[in-house]
Amino acid sequence: MSTRRKFLQNSAISSTALLFGKELFSHENVFESVKEQPVVISTWAPNIKANAEAWKILSTGGRALDAVHMGVQVPEADPEDQSVGYGGLPDRDGRVTLDACIMDENGNCGSVMCLEHIIHPISVARLVMEKTPHIILVGEGALRFALANGFKKENLLTPDSEKAWKEWLKTSKYDPMITPGGLMEKNKQQVIPGQLNNHDTIGMVAMDAKGDLSGACTTSGLAYKMHGRVGDSPVIGAGLFVDNEIGAATSTGVGEEVIRIVGSHLVVELMRQGHKPEAACKAAVERIIKKNPEKAKTLQVGFIALNKKGEFGAYSLQKEFTMAVRNTKEEKVYTVKSVF
Ligand code: ASP
Repeated sequence: MSTRRKFLQNSAISSTALLFGKELFSHENVFESVKEQPVVISTWAPNIKANAEAWKILSTGGRALDAVHMGVQVPEADPEDQSVGYGGLPDRDGRVTLDACIMDENGNCGSVMCLEHIIHPISVARLVMEKTPHIILVGEGALRFALANGFKKENLLTPDSEKAWKEWLKTSKYDPMITPGGLMEKNKQQVIPGQLNNHDTIGMVAMDAKGDLSGACTTSGLAYKMHGRVGDSPVIGAGLFVDNEIGAATSTGVGEEVIRIVGSHLVVELMRQGHKPEAACKAAVERIIKKNPEKAKTLQVGFIALNKKGEFGAYSLQKEFTMAVRNTKEEKVYTVKSVF
């Protein structure tokens, strides 16, 4: 059973779970009252582990950019996480293709799309940002760039993910529409009977002790997608956006819907207009509904956001989206409010 699945099953037993001896779950949604700096927030409960890695940097005065970079490497390297990096579910041709982007406090950004064989696409995205005059490298070009910079070529398709893909091939039914909880059940992807659970992503944004913001987002994208498909996650403005004057936001869910509204940029712009993070995320989710009310009922999208004051918030279309938070006061998972 995947860590993610087990984790959320455990949390269902009681609304207050304990991890590392600390109270973990809150259903109060008291996001806006917490203003602590430094702070890191991530999509999905299991990424409390990614936050812990980021926290090592933030709590010792390090830069938010380094924190998010190191943080998202945790699920990238975890073979049990079938939605990010190594062990990610493949596309319909059985190829694990990864998308990632990173953005710093100065508006610098880097992205890789449809990158194969490299366990840490986020590190390649950072190198694109720091070592090239470009922002995005895709496919073969991104791989060549990675190999030329010392990254190792690896097989990212784990036996479990291969087995799941072969199982999927029996019907080859592709429907990325529904994943209320974003839960991954190994080899089955049948969280809700009849519904295919085929997406999940880590988006992480942080503010360091200096008050600077950065973000990172990395994913294997929708499982069993067409080869070459790219979602929102590596698209600056859609899956991630950072504006050091205002705040930062990132997303998870069906990427096509996030791209349509340039979601993370929208959330930051709504914060610029005075919305608190949760209200900004809610307004973005409502924009998706407005564009296609019927379709919105059948899919999941979630946003998380952090503003310059250290206030954070989130909102999703469907229930069961979670956000992991770490700051000087708490290490916690919040159950996010949703429209449906
Ligand atoms: N947003 C990702 C994509 O569309 C998937 C996800 O968040 O699960 O590729």
